[in-house]
Amino acid sequence: MVIGGSMAGLLSARVLADHFDKVTLVERDVRGEGPAARKGVPQGPHIHVLLDTGRRILDTYFPDLFEQLQVQGAELIDSSGDLAWHHFGVWKLRHTSGIPGLLCTRPLLEWNVLRRVKARPNVAVREGCSIEGLIRDEKGTGRITGVRVKTPQGEESWEADLVVDASGRGSRMPQWLEAIGYARPEEEQVIVDLSYTTCLHEPPPHFQKEWKALFLYPSPPKAWRAGFISHVEGGRWLVTLNGYFGEHAPTEYQGFLEYARSLTRPDLYNYLKEATPIGPISQHKVKDCRWRHYEKLARFPEGLAILGDAACAFNPLYGQGMSVAGLGAELLDTCLREQAERGELSGLAQRFRERLPEVIRLPWLLGTGMDLLYPQAVGKRPFGLGLLHWYLLRLMERTSTDAHVHRQFYRILHLHAGLEAVLQPSVALPVLGHGVMSLLRPLERLANTETRPPPLTRPGPVPVQKSRS
Ligand SMILES: Cc1cc2nc3c(=O)[nH]c(=O)nc-3n(C[C@H](O)[C@H](O)[C@H](O)COP(=O)(O)OP(=O)(O)OC[C@H]3O[C@@H](n4cnc5c(N)ncnc54)[C@H](O)[C@@H]3O)c2cc1C
Repeated sequence: MVIGGSMAGLLSARVLADHFDKVTLVERDVRGEGPAARKGVPQGPHIHVLLDTGRRILDTYFPDLFEQLQVQGAELIDSSGDLAWHHFGVWKLRHTSGIPGLLCTRPLLEWNVLRRVKARPNVAVREGCSIEGLIRDEKGTGRITGVRVKTPQGEESWEADLVVDASGRGSRMPQWLEAIGYARPEEEQVIVDLSYTTCLHEPPPHFQKEWKALFLYPSPPKAWRAGFISHVEGGRWLVTLNGYFGEHAPTEYQGFLEYARSLTRPDLYNYLKEATPIGPISQHKVKDCRWRHYEKLARFPEGLAILGDAACAFNPLYGQGMSVAGLGAELLDTCLREQAERGELSGLAQRFRERLPEVIRLPWLLGTGMDLLYPQAVGKRPFGLGLLHWYLLRLMERTSTDAHVHRQFYRILHLHAGLEAVLQPSVALPVLGHGVMSLLRPLERLANTETRPPPLTRPGPVPVQKSRS
């Protein structure tokens, strides 16, 4: 039984379909035919970046997905060569990274995944039903044996051998566990008060395709605002403007444009003022990043797994959520295979919750590490953070001039490697050297601070890499 039919729930259902005779995915929303924004996923209208780890996992479980997305107008680009990305006062190098990036709207991606999950003969998708609580084994084994469901016909009890909570940031699992006699998990939180304001545009007719996506990231601690343009299906631009700590772009168009003009760089506004808005402006606010440490609970029932945003909701600006949801589903797959070798399901819940931090720890450190550069961000500041920040800033500056440093940074960014990738001598020495040099002369003379995004070095689409058939 999977609670929630968004990215984490869909991937979980796909994984469970390989291990169980019957999988039921329960989703509160009722979806129509075709891709569309919906209430249960309010982030749907906003820009979504898919890290390469997420792409790899989706490609593994849905081998024809990216081919079909491209037929429907999505693009696979080179995540470095086709991206103009300004951060910490410099443009990042643009070279052929070989790492594909997906450009399309979030509803198109989710709808394509949903269709593939629905097509599996042993998966039933029950829409318009809301899970309201857990049912525990009455014999006192502590096992979860099912869920309480609110259906259009009334409240019902549904049995399950395994319940997977993928109900997102708003998951009520802490309350549900408490209701059946368990403690609530400890929560780690960093408050960022981040806003997303988004509008679709028709690009200007004379746009020369200097880039496929333009990112003006906010540079802590001073710059609180950010802006993104991404090509999406239908030849349109999806334009998102962000603000930290309560700053938000207006939802009427003139104000939206003025906010774009207020960003630390003029590039996005200069492109945008020539474009034509189509459709309404959507806004969504994210209060915090939150990690629920289920692994630390002294007691936890068998028959339950929690993943995706329900376990850890990241700052969306770093594009990690869908990929970590995928890593969680992949870990569930691994744990289920190991259980199959043991010939029993018992022990799965404990093993899964203990191992989930392995896939959360690095992205959490990267995202919150960046957020905590803002003195206004409320959260626990770990020992040594100042040193990490100093190194991180020098590293980011160096990504504008040094292809090797840039490549290693990308390996971490896309969750291909751990921190060791940027601490090895071939990266640390130039970064530290740059740190010393920047004390002696201003950054402007050292780094690429051109007033226009740097040119493409390798235009054109990147072929899809197949992971598994
Ligand atoms: C503004 C914003 C921008 C983002 N940008 C990115 C990005 O660029 N890249 C990226 O990788 N990630 C991004 N994310 C995160 C990403 O959207 C999520 O990490 C991803 O969708 C996985 O979340 P999920 O499936 O765990 O939960 P959600 O996507 O929140 O979905 C939860 C689902 O559960 C359903 N549900 C909830 N409660 C119940 C219930 N009781 N019963 C039945 N169904 C229920 C909901 O209707 C919903 O369908 C962004 C998030 C936000 C907020």
